[in-house]
Amino acid sequence: MKCFYCQGKMVRGVTPFDVTRRGYHVHFDAVPAWVCEQCGEALFDSQAVDLIEHSLDTLDEQTYQMRVAA
Ligand SMILES: [Zn+2]
Repeated sequence: MKCFYCQGKMVRGVTPFDVTRRGYHVHFDAVPAWVCEQCGEALFDSQAVDLIEHSLDTLDEQTYQMRVAA
């Protein structure tokens, strides 16, 4: 796999990921991803995307009581 930006080599690694949701923010320190050796650009595979989406769905549910008044 080649980097979309610089054509560098993508290797398995981890990358931080920030999400802004309605009423809260999430910061993941180390999400499994393909990371470019050259420029550091990260690309999530579908498994990582699923994990993030599942986590956010759960958070949306669990934090509803803290957001409903906002
Ligand atoms: Zn790159």
